[in-house]
Amino acid sequence: MIRVASTAVRPDHGAMRDIDDLFAALARSEFRSRFRLGPKEAAYLQEKTLPVILDHCRRFIVERLAPAEPRSDGKQTPMRGHPVFIAQHATATCCRKCLQKWHFIPRGRPMSQEEVRYVTDVIERWLAVG
Ligand SMILES: [Zn+2]
Repeated sequence: MIRVASTAVRPDHGAMRDIDDLFAALARSEFRSRFRLGPKEAAYLQEKTLPVILDHCRRFIVERLAPAEPRSDGKQTPMRGHPVFIAQHATATCCRKCLQKWHFIPRGRPMSQEEVRYVTDVIERWLAVG
């Protein structure tokens, strides 16, 4: 029997989910696709500008998601009050369980810098499209 290269979607190290594939899957989720910025979050994004909001985003990810065992995991992301929170629910980057299920980032270990960057890119794309 001839061994062929692995065809696994996610390699053991490195690559996270393809972002186009992810957004196609999110669009098929009735729950995820319901999320929209409210007037207050939209105004806040407008006022602060996207680069500043993405700074907040990185801080939220590092503090609330990146630790191996985040505090109150599953409940750490409010449903409103900041554009990034809404974007997190819309993109399934709200908690480690959703990160594992949707983004193939395993629970129980700290997130890598690359994973933090990937999650920020996902949230940026959602915010930019609206
Ligand atoms: Zn979640």
